[in-house]
Amino acid sequence: MESPELSFTLAYVVLSLCFVFTPNEFRSAGLTVQNLFSSWLGSEDVGFIQYHVRRTSITLLVHSALPLGYYMGMCIAAPEKNLGYFHKVTTYHVYMALQSECHVTVTQSRQHQLSPDLTSPAQILTLRVDRINPAVKPFDIRLISTEYAELREKLHAPIRNSPNVVIHQTMSELFLDTFRAHVDLNQPYTLPSGQEMEPCIGCMQVPANLKLVRLCQAEGAPNVSECQQCFCRPMWCLSCLGRWFASRQDQQRPETWLSSRVPCPTCRATFCVLDICAVH
Ligand SMILES: [Zn+2]
Ligand SMILES: [Zn+2]
Ligand SMILES: [Zn+2]
Repeated sequence: MESPELSFTLAYVVLSLCFVFTPNEFRSAGLTVQNLFSSWLGSEDVGFIQYHVRRTSITLLVHSALPLGYYMGMCIAAPEKNLGYFHKVTTYHVYMALQSECHVTVTQSRQHQLSPDLTSPAQILTLRVDRINPAVKPFDIRLISTEYAELREKLHAPIRNSPNVVIHQTMSELFLDTFRAHVDLNQPYTLPSGQEMEPCIGCMQVPANLKLVRLCQAEGAPNVSECQQCFCRPMWCLSCLGRWFASRQDQQRPETWLSSRVPCPTCRATFCVLDICAVH
């Protein structure tokens, strides 16, 4: 049989039916609830009522857990299918919701420094899963913002976004906050008198508010710096230059981004984060 989920489903249905209706072959092999839980059930002869109360309870519990057992097995047999379910497992609960029967809303975002090696913090999003049936309690799931785009692709329904929650979907978007913070630490650049701020040539939306000045060599070893002086007038805004900076990096090693050098997008003079000055 070519599809693993079909083979698994057939085998599971047959085994479940045999387990519930216990044919003689199953009885002789000892595959019955009574036999599997015999030590907990105790002796039928010694405590008849207690034995049967326990037996009926455990049988009910085991039989009602069969669909969940099926679901978990299916996740292993055909993980790529995702079965159209959300699920969340906590110590005492397993929450499940069919995607087609729920609404998903991004309700919160938080920045977390997951590891000291990473220069940019990770953004953790909280998504609330509400079932269409209001009697069923909603539950929250959390994920890293970089996984958000993947989730949105797999979902069969749109994700709603609470106002005020800004989602940094890619590493370079997330990097912008760190980039901005570092630029703010550098000394500002004052425009020569008579020079006007022009619109950013990347987006044409906001003024070009950055100037590249070779400052890094001033600290410590003066001749070690590989940066070059850029003679361009301010042409780029912070978001555009930040995205340019991020796009020239090794995407697999974000911890190296802040310490690396990139060429000026206009004149190709090499610069680093220390050389970016906010224009005042
Ligand atoms: Zn721009
Ligand atoms: Zn330049
Ligand atoms: Zn530099």
